[in-house]
Amino acid sequence: MPANAIPHIPLAHLPTPLEPMAALSRELGGPQLWVKRDDATGLAMGGNKARKLEYLIADAVEREADVVLTTGATQSNHCRQTAAAAARAGLECELLIEHRFPDWGVEYQAGGNILLDRLLGATVIDLDAGTDRDAALEARAAELEAAGRTPYVIPLGGSSVIGAMGYRTAAVETLRQADDLGFEIREIVHATASGGTQAGLVAGLAIRRSSVGVYGISAGAPSSYLAPIVHELAEGVIERVGLDRTIPADAVIVDDSYVGDEYGMPTHAMREAVELVAATEAILLDPVYSGKAMSGLMELVRRDRWGRDDNVVFIHTGGTPALFGYRETFA
Ligand SMILES: *Cc1c(COP(=O)(O)O)cnc(C)c1O
Repeated sequence: MPANAIPHIPLAHLPTPLEPMAALSRELGGPQLWVKRDDATGLAMGGNKARKLEYLIADAVEREADVVLTTGATQSNHCRQTAAAAARAGLECELLIEHRFPDWGVEYQAGGNILLDRLLGATVIDLDAGTDRDAALEARAAELEAAGRTPYVIPLGGSSVIGAMGYRTAAVETLRQADDLGFEIREIVHATASGGTQAGLVAGLAIRRSSVGVYGISAGAPSSYLAPIVHELAEGVIERVGLDRTIPADAVIVDDSYVGDEYGMPTHAMREAVELVAATEAILLDPVYSGKAMSGLMELVRRDRWGRDDNVVFIHTGGTPALFGYRETFA
């Protein structure tokens, strides 16, 4: 399908700014760090899922769905933005929330994103930790169908080929902005989890025949699991826009060194990164994704991955509302 024939509805505030992080660059002693402010996409407090939902919700509308289902953890940004997008499109929304850390405090259980899910009108269905979320989504969709409804299932993180389309255009947007600002990007760094963001970026850059690299820092999954998923989604995006181009396996870098104990579990380095970026740049990262990704970026700077004059773009993928679910971590 030609790119302009792929259904799409505007939901995000675009383009998001691409800004220098001069103070942080000075603090770390280079490289030249820039931030792509995808925490400023709007759609009920920003984040990377807004770009994906422009395509996913358009697909749901095209298929005449009347209810959207998805899944995520208690403090899922994806669930919050899906609830917002569904509300905007006049669709019902059901969120299957996996309560991974049932022993954590009330802010985690009821504040931050989960508070917003309810405010945005979504129905929250609770899942115990360890539940097979894909199976739970399919089972709930079947129940709704049996009741005469038309459900649309959005996979974890919105990371289908359709969702990843949103980051194909983000790659092009970022290249254009860097061009306007008069610099060449050496590498793009961002938090990766379900893979759609990275896949869209890799595909978008390949479509432009750009040599800019993408460095994904995992928020949970091991690289051996996630990298092939990113690769497959990226090739899916290219196929869907009707191009014939292969993506070399080494175009997908997933570094899983900064996860800590597991997804969602704070690390000391994450906390330091969140605090430093807030204090130097007045930018609020999040404890689950962008904070761990920034802790990785800072370590890569220490290891001289880039030269002092290289321009490195950090995509702030959002997640700020989750800070309020992690009060105890920063207390
Ligand atoms: C979902 C999410 C990511 C990861 O994006 P994927 O497309 O799932 O890899 C990164 N940062 C934040 C804040 C997110 O909510």
